[in-house]
Amino acid sequence: MSNLENRLLAALPELRGKLKSGASLADLTWFRVGGPAEILYSPADEADLAYFLKKTPADVPVTVVGLGSNLLVRDGGIAGVVIRLGRGFGDIKIEDGSRLRVGAAVPDVKVARAAADAGIAGLSFYRGIPGGVGGALRMNGGAHGRETKEVVIEARAVDRKGEIHVLPVAELHYDYRHCAAPEDLIFTEALFQGEPGEPAKILAEMEDIAAYREQAQPIKSRTGGSTFKNPPGNKAWQLIDAAGCRGLMVGNAKVSDMHCNFLINEGNATGADLEQLGETVRARVKETSGVELEWEIKRLGVPD
Ligand SMILES: Cc1cc2nc3c(=O)[nH]c(=O)nc-3n(C[C@H](O)[C@H](O)[C@H](O)COP(=O)(O)OP(=O)(O)OC[C@H]3O[C@@H](n4cnc5c(N)ncnc54)[C@H](O)[C@@H]3O)c2cc1C
Repeated sequence: MSNLENRLLAALPELRGKLKSGASLADLTWFRVGGPAEILYSPADEADLAYFLKKTPADVPVTVVGLGSNLLVRDGGIAGVVIRLGRGFGDIKIEDGSRLRVGAAVPDVKVARAAADAGIAGLSFYRGIPGGVGGALRMNGGAHGRETKEVVIEARAVDRKGEIHVLPVAELHYDYRHCAAPEDLIFTEALFQGEPGEPAKILAEMEDIAAYREQAQPIKSRTGGSTFKNPPGNKAWQLIDAAGCRGLMVGNAKVSDMHCNFLINEGNATGADLEQLGETVRARVKETSGVELEWEIKRLGVPD
């Protein structure tokens, strides 16, 4: 047991969730790279999470991860506590007025399915996003012409001091793939608003989305989705292609041949390979087009 785990156990006698020292983060991310979490904490429920945050000494760094579909973890891992929400945050409730109240650990695809089954239209775009609700809230996840900010009414969250907040969408301060709500907030639940729809029609829409993804994106690869945000008035993939980066490799990391804004771990790439490849792409795009690409993928932790 690590020193930090001992320290936390002493400070948190009523903790119900699980702590694990040195847990692999590569196992929890789509890229399958990166070092361990000093401690991985799986809260039992929101009350347990709030207790943890309240009682954990302020000098202990806390990082939250979702389903790891937008994360590049560096090879030295993440110091302090990494929080990953699980079963205690997995409820889906249908409410009056075409609304869904959903726990932050629920995968987006399940939101789309539950909405379709309940005859709620407007959420089918989540069929194509492989993250969870917490990640969708933080990233303003979007696809096929819609984004989270258009369908979320409010979010529940716990801050670093263990206080619970209910934030209406205006307080989430959304922008393209960005949420300017305080960084210490850990989202626990979202309330989504849809509109009445025909289940069969919504399911057909979802099938179209799945079919489109299958032929346009390397969704079965070890990837983090779109690496860079689309700069205003431009498509990142076009700039990357024009800079001659399609298929470019660093170690075992490759710019996808299928969709060149996706980076792929071809087998045994390291976090450093992927990050260096991304930085090389940024430098070449800057050289050829003058545009500075901004990372959409979140890079966490320290180099080896
Ligand atoms: C094949 C593929 C296709 C993709 N297509 C799309 C797409 O079409 N549109 C799109 O928007 N994205 C897409 N993505 C990126 C990714 O799926 C989204 O960004 C998604 O919303 C991330 O959710 P996650 O649960 O995986 O979060 P993670 O990747 O684990 O984390 C992402 C960020 O969210 C934060 N976070 C996670 N959970 C919480 C929480 N409970 N509270 C507070 N912060 C939290 C993390 O700290 C991190 O900053 C794609 C990714 C892949 C691999």
